[in-house]
Amino acid sequence: MTIAIVGAGLGGLTLARMLHLNGIDAVVYEREPSRDARGQGGMLDIHSGQRALREAGLIDRFLAIARGEGQDMRLLRPDGTLLLQEDTPDDAPLERPEVDRADLRALLLDSLPEDAVRWGHAFTSAEDGRLHFADGRSAPYDLLVGADGANSRVRALLTDARPAHVGQNVVEVGIPDIDRTHPDLAAMVGRGNFWVLGDGTSLAAQRNGDGRVRIGVSFYNTGEDWFATSGIPFDDPAAARARLIELLPGWDPRITALIAACDDTVVPRAITTLPPGLTWPPTPGVTLVGDAAHLMPPVGEGANMALLDGAVLGLALAAHPDDFAAAVAEYEREMFERTGAAARMSADMQELLMSPDAANRLLAFFQPG
Ligand SMILES: Cc1cc2nc3c(=O)[nH]c(=O)nc-3n(C[C@H](O)[C@H](O)[C@H](O)COP(=O)(O)OP(=O)(O)OC[C@H]3O[C@@H](n4cnc5c(N)ncnc54)[C@H](O)[C@@H]3O)c2cc1C
Repeated sequence: MTIAIVGAGLGGLTLARMLHLNGIDAVVYEREPSRDARGQGGMLDIHSGQRALREAGLIDRFLAIARGEGQDMRLLRPDGTLLLQEDTPDDAPLERPEVDRADLRALLLDSLPEDAVRWGHAFTSAEDGRLHFADGRSAPYDLLVGADGANSRVRALLTDARPAHVGQNVVEVGIPDIDRTHPDLAAMVGRGNFWVLGDGTSLAAQRNGDGRVRIGVSFYNTGEDWFATSGIPFDDPAAARARLIELLPGWDPRITALIAACDDTVVPRAITTLPPGLTWPPTPGVTLVGDAAHLMPPVGEGANMALLDGAVLGLALAAHPDDFAAAVAEYEREMFERTGAAARMSADMQELLMSPDAANRLLAFFQPG
């Protein structure tokens, strides 16, 4: 009985680790040619997902790479008014530490046998118990687990649902080695999250483990064609930075100085989500974990849910190693309920961020009463 996992992201690798721990064979097929083939993104806020890492026997290794000070938060208005500052004491419990996505993925990869992941296998389709890859190769499976992220191709085997634009477009930029290159800006951003919320726009700066500050400038209530009409020349980074600053009229120059200090990586990212509470009918031999199953707005739940999916499905398969249908049914029952609740909570937070007076509403969220 062959378990094939498509996608070596957080969900797929957690599942592979759980199966490995329980002596169940599985193969992970990943599109990327090698583990270091591309940058692996920024920081993730890991809270409920710690339960999955405990089940996977990796919690101590996780706590060793987690950054408690990454929980620090500063919330400002565009005119520079500081609304909230929370600094994490050194001895505070690591309830929601930040971790570099690349470090967490490396931790999971290192917990698997060398040959667990087959790199350079881009899944295209599955039929009659065989997976097909873009280069013409194929492989057998009895259970196919789609862990292939936001734009999953496995998903089409289960549902017609597709991610839809939520009216938020983000321009991602960043300042490398900020402590050395811009100590004044480093002091302003602090050790964790620096968040400026305006009406219809926001700037989120976050310090990464490698000293880079990643910055996302968001434009809310904007359509799918916004990047094309925004006047941001993505092929000319200096002009793109200047245009971004122009799109934030009235902002405190100390804040827009963050954009001026960025390097030449300017990436557009449209925010899409699956419908909250998405389910599908039981389908023999196929299921999904992570973003493939429940892509949510990026407000801190997606990676945690992916880790938990991998752990819960792994435990269900360990409990029913000879009955994949029973294991998948047990997993999907729990997953639909848990991730449906998380998706609805994330949609509420997204609605708050997109509303007029988002800063005051967020302040009330963090300081109820
Ligand atoms: C490179 C990268 C950087 C990211 N950076 C951030 C970040 O900075 N902040 C944040 O909040 N979230 C980030 N994310 C998303 C975040 O990791 C996920 O939302 C979350 O962890 C859910 O994990 P997942 O396992 O479902 O999907 P992912 O972690 O997205 O993993 C999906 C995996 O499937 C692979 N894949 C896709 N299609 C195929 C195919 N056809 N065949 C084979 N393999 C395929 C992908 O290459 C990827 O390795 C990033 C994701 C990626 C892939």
